[in-house]
Amino acid sequence: MEKKRIAVMTSGGDAQGMNAAVRSVVRTALDKGAEVYAIYEGYQGLVDGGQWICKMDWDSVGGIMQRGGTVIGTARCQEFRTTAGRMAAVKNLIEIGIDGLVVIGGDGSLTGANVLRQEWPQLVKGLVETNQISRKQAEEYPNLVIVGLVGSIDNDFSGTDMTIGTDSALHRITEAVDAITSTAASHQRTFVVKVMGRNCGYLALMSALATGADWVLIPEYPPDVENWKDVMAERMRAGRQAGRRDSMVILAEGAQDINGNYIGSTEVKDALEERLGEEVRITVLGHVQRGGRPSAFDRILATLQGYEAVEAVLTADPEDEPVVIGITGNRTSRIPLMEGVERTRAVAAAIAEKDYEKAISLRSSGFVDSFRTLKTIVRALPHDLDPKQKRYRIAILNAGAPAPGMNTATRTAVRLGLDKGHIMLGVRNGFEGLGEGEIEEFNWMSVTGWASMGGSELGTSRLVPQGKDLYSIARAIEDCKIDALLVVGGWSAYQAVYLMYTERNNFSAFNIPIVCLPASINNNLPGSELSLGADTALNSIVDAVDKIKQSAVATRRCFVVEVMGHWCGYLALMSGLATGAERVYLHEEGITLDDLKRDVTMLTEGFEMGKRLGLIIRNEYANNIYKTDFICALFEEEGRDLFDVRPAILGHMQQGGDPSPYDRIQATRLARLCLEYLVEQCEKGQDGNAFVGLEKGSYRFHEMRDFERMVNSEYQRPQELWWMERREITRMLAKIKPDV
Ligand code: ADP
Repeated sequence: MEKKRIAVMTSGGDAQGMNAAVRSVVRTALDKGAEVYAIYEGYQGLVDGGQWICKMDWDSVGGIMQRGGTVIGTARCQEFRTTAGRMAAVKNLIEIGIDGLVVIGGDGSLTGANVLRQEWPQLVKGLVETNQISRKQAEEYPNLVIVGLVGSIDNDFSGTDMTIGTDSALHRITEAVDAITSTAASHQRTFVVKVMGRNCGYLALMSALATGADWVLIPEYPPDVENWKDVMAERMRAGRQAGRRDSMVILAEGAQDINGNYIGSTEVKDALEERLGEEVRITVLGHVQRGGRPSAFDRILATLQGYEAVEAVLTADPEDEPVVIGITGNRTSRIPLMEGVERTRAVAAAIAEKDYEKAISLRSSGFVDSFRTLKTIVRALPHDLDPKQKRYRIAILNAGAPAPGMNTATRTAVRLGLDKGHIMLGVRNGFEGLGEGEIEEFNWMSVTGWASMGGSELGTSRLVPQGKDLYSIARAIEDCKIDALLVVGGWSAYQAVYLMYTERNNFSAFNIPIVCLPASINNNLPGSELSLGADTALNSIVDAVDKIKQSAVATRRCFVVEVMGHWCGYLALMSGLATGAERVYLHEEGITLDDLKRDVTMLTEGFEMGKRLGLIIRNEYANNIYKTDFICALFEEEGRDLFDVRPAILGHMQQGGDPSPYDRIQATRLARLCLEYLVEQCEKGQDGNAFVGLEKGSYRFHEMRDFERMVNSEYQRPQELWWMERREITRMLAKIKPDV
């Protein structure tokens, strides 16, 4: 059978992660035995043909994954909007014999793709009639298979949780806002930061949530009162009076007031200056948001979607409707292209018609929830209390190793709790501190600035209480009249809570609602696909590996990078996927001598073929005997003078750093859910013990008694490892050449 031919292009606004998508499409297609062509410069290249359409091989996409932008270029093309332009495109595609086209772009580009698909039969007919192609060619290509990937920093495409580039843009924004916050705080200043997003307030909303900004203006929720400028300024003033040193407004580029007028940054600045009598500064972030290296998430998202796109192209019938590859709950999904485009357009239309309710209903539930949470936590002070309201004493502690995001979660829980009138108690130094009574009542300002801080401000300890510790903890709970307990932590935190649960008969003080919020860079907790800190750690690893790779230019060298995770291979596998490692060693799979022999052969062959760099990622506990130094020594010896080998043990830098935007957003959502759970338990007079997490796209609570059943206690990881299914793709993409 003749080889299938697939073409790939990037179009419209560029987005970080497009290169990872191109790499994945090219390599997956080659691995599946297809031929691949890259169309340079978007639709312009498709219309112009010739040198703009190039055949790709395995190495054409080497070393591009960590680069921002798109190496095959993108453009905005007027000609493609005309029938003549599209006819030229069809001719070029038929002449090369393309069976399927993967378009990576925003809703504009995907609309263009859909138009091409719908007009295809007519355009082919026109080409035959004008003798530009033969009848036989026309019969061979009755239709074109089209698959879209959404490359857009705006996250504005309906039907997918995230689009390629959004997470990286959020990284850029939070880095910038964190930096501005520190200077603003030094001078007690007010800043207005304008962010991108066209008709979508996602970037503005999530960055406000992630940075602890004071006010946000987005298209979907215009301020609901005419005098919103007074309200906003009043809020800033109250914040300062309550002790805040800086004020920050995040403005989405598409933000409007209730009359449908765009709100400009100068308008916000003038409004604040007039009312506060102080200078206000504007920062327009602009194209910085599109630039820079893609985040770990964007690399992985683009890679998985590129793989799925090729699968979709190869299994599609030419008559099938085009699809877009999305992501829902950490899994790739397929959405009919036109439906996705139409729903996306409908949001913009609803905003233009000032039908905000409709606009919001078309956004995800996460978006709506986040807005609600934000409205509370940005307040300068809690709402006034309802005197009839029952107030509970809720304690929060951090336990286990510090994980980025712990502070963000603590801040959210404290503020939401205070806002509902509860007494929020901060426990210092984990269960050890609890036993020693290191407990203090927190107020609204106790957690100021915590949204963006790494580590654990409360302090944490790894103690799993036993024997007499349990007595002191029980006494502290009674003495402080703790009604409910929120534990933000990792494995030892879960173990401690489980132990308390099993000791309920012996200690009546333990019969209170307790909930565990998953926070561990190891991502080894049951009932949660992603625990707080894992995304930050993954980004730290990916950053470090990028640098390590750069250091090896021109030397033929193989690096063996050791990453954390205890017995859980999540960080190792995902960093392998995001950096293009040749091999990943996991404890889950183990390492055998045969593996090592095969890998030495693979590396030797690779370097003989002209490879300049090898990358192996090893989980810290992958094997007791075949440790990193052993593997390095073995490879060094076997590599002779063909290549040398260096270890890179990344160590505790993986636990540090400011939390990534995703970890901050996740921390906020989980903390809100945990607080609601505890309050509900208290109100119902129940004493549930549970752990929470995101699974298959929804948040769930599991009862604490299921902990033992859901984990592998010996190796401290969940029984079910959802991410293991990504091994195949990691392995395939890392090959030195395709098998076929
Ligand atoms: P994005 O893909 O980032 O939304 P644009 O809206 O600028 O970017 O679209 C990129 C390109 O897609 C346009 O320059 C044009 O070539 C093509 N395109 C967009 N809309 C259409 C359409 N309705 N018909 C044909 N081509 C279109």
